[in-house]
Amino acid sequence: MLEKINGVIIKTQDYSETHKIITIFSNKIGKFTAIARGAKKPKSRMAALTQPFIYGEFLVYISKGLSTLQQGDSLNSFRSIREDIFKTAYAAYIAELTDKLMDSHSPDYYLYEQFYKTLQWISENEDLEIPTIMYELKLYQKAGFAPIVDCCVNCGETNHPFSFSIQEGGLLCSKCKSSIDPESIQLSFGVAKLFYLLSHVGIEQVGDITVKNKNKQLLRQLLDAYYDHFGGYYLKSRKVLNQLHLLQ
Ligand SMILES: [Zn+2]
Repeated sequence: MLEKINGVIIKTQDYSETHKIITIFSNKIGKFTAIARGAKKPKSRMAALTQPFIYGEFLVYISKGLSTLQQGDSLNSFRSIREDIFKTAYAAYIAELTDKLMDSHSPDYYLYEQFYKTLQWISENEDLEIPTIMYELKLYQKAGFAPIVDCCVNCGETNHPFSFSIQEGGLLCSKCKSSIDPESIQLSFGVAKLFYLLSHVGIEQVGDITVKNKNKQLLRQLLDAYYDHFGGYYLKSRKVLNQLHLLQ
C-alpha cells in the first residue's frame, strides 16, 4: 500500500554498499522501518533525505515488515541541531529512547507531537535537560513503566514529605519509607511537585517551568537510575551525553 506519511527519521543504518535502512517515527502509523535504495550514493537525492532528525513528507510502500521508501521531501532538516554537538546528543537520546521503547506500527499522535515539539525546542533553545525529561516521562508512560509521582506508591498518601524509591517505582511517604525502603532519596516539596508537573504537562508549557541547576541534576540522576532498573535496553546515546557533560 503506497502512503504519503509525515514523520521524523529517528535511526539510519547502512545496508549493503548502496542502500540504507531508516526508522521513521510518523503521525499516521507510528514507528516503522523502510529501505531507502541508493541512499548511500553521496550525490543522490535519497542521501540528503535520509539523514537523522529530518522531518519530511515521505512516500512509502508500507508493508508489515520492512517498508520501502520511494521518495520524499524534507520539510525541516533541523540543521541547528546537527550543527551543535550538544543538541545532536540530546536529540539522539530522545530518538534512541523512542526507537527502543515504541512498538512498530502502533500510532500515538500525542507522543508523536510531543516528540516533534521537543525536537523543535532543542533546535531553538539552550536549556535541553528539562524538555528531555518531560518527553522521557511521557514515553515511560506509553511503555508502561512510568514512576508513580502523584501519591505514595504503597499507601496512596498524597501529603508531603515524600522520598523517591527506585525499587518501588515512585514516591514513598515518610511512614512507608521507613518500613519499605529506608534508602529512598528524600525530596524537597519543590522537587516532588516538579516530578508531578513534568510527568503531566506537555512540552508546550516547558517555557513556564524554571528549575534550579541542582534540581535538574537530581532529577537526571534519579531518572537514570530509574531507567537502569526498569528500562531494560542499553542506550548508546546516553553514554555519549554523559561523556559530553564530563567535558563541560
Ligand atoms: Zn505511604
